[in-house]
Amino acid sequence: MKVIDAHTHTWSRDIISERDLESRRIAAERLGVEPVLDSPIDTLRQAMTTSGVESAVVLPVDSGFDQKMPLSLTEKTDWHANEVRDDANIISFVGLDPRRGEAGLKELERAVKEKGCRGWKMYPPNGFYPDEKEFDPYYKLCVDLDIPITIHQGFTPRHKHVKYARPVYVDRVAADFPDLKIVLAHVGYPWQDETLMIASKNPNVSVDISGWQVFASTVPLKVYLMIGDAKTLKVFPNRMMFGSDFPLFEYAMTLKKWVEFFSRLQLPSELLEQGYKQVREDEIERVMWKNAARIIFGET
Ligand SMILES: [Zn+2]
Repeated sequence: MKVIDAHTHTWSRDIISERDLESRRIAAERLGVEPVLDSPIDTLRQAMTTSGVESAVVLPVDSGFDQKMPLSLTEKTDWHANEVRDDANIISFVGLDPRRGEAGLKELERAVKEKGCRGWKMYPPNGFYPDEKEFDPYYKLCVDLDIPITIHQGFTPRHKHVKYARPVYVDRVAADFPDLKIVLAHVGYPWQDETLMIASKNPNVSVDISGWQVFASTVPLKVYLMIGDAKTLKVFPNRMMFGSDFPLFEYAMTLKKWVEFFSRLQLPSELLEQGYKQVREDEIERVMWKNAARIIFGET
């Protein structure tokens, strides 16, 4: 089965802040694993080959609004754009904090029109609610440029603020901009119910399942329940996309194993007895690549 990974990251320690590096060390210590301080694109390419992932989306984060960064915003856009420039199978979004106002709007347009970025990665835990009225020009511009926004939702690292990552703060935007394509990352864990409700009521909202390999490798029932609920609410199968958050969860489950787990996913009989409907292979195929091809790559 073809696979598109809608949520990956590349970086090197020279382009992120000291505080963000420290967050990675803290997270690794909590988990008892080695911190991932660099994520070179070659490692992503290798993992894609090993796992049978044909295409991937790189999602840079802009943490430079209120902390000192090694690169300026435009330099960072260029760093990511140049990394994927000659690769037909890996695309990059632009990472942008909408509190940057006019300058941010200009950068969004430049990133898409001149640097080939294919969407916008928004990271609210840096300190803002997505539904601030002052950000509306950004949403309008995304509609005009016909690009999707992937919004980080739910669980965040040590120095970020999780209150901003609640799905309910995306609803006003989704409702007011019906042509705006919004992807709620990580199915908003631990607010998966809230995420699925927002996606259920707004047909322009989809979800990515990145990060859920943590449960697939420990308590897979949590994955099955979430998929069963998503199917009941009609978010599965047409508005859910496969994603990994590579390389952040390799310690829990490798990309290859995550692909295998999800492409063969079947709900257990205990859930079917409770009324959940079994998932079909053609539905899983939509999640593995068809939805991303349509929503992110613009294929019809
Ligand atoms: Zn991520």
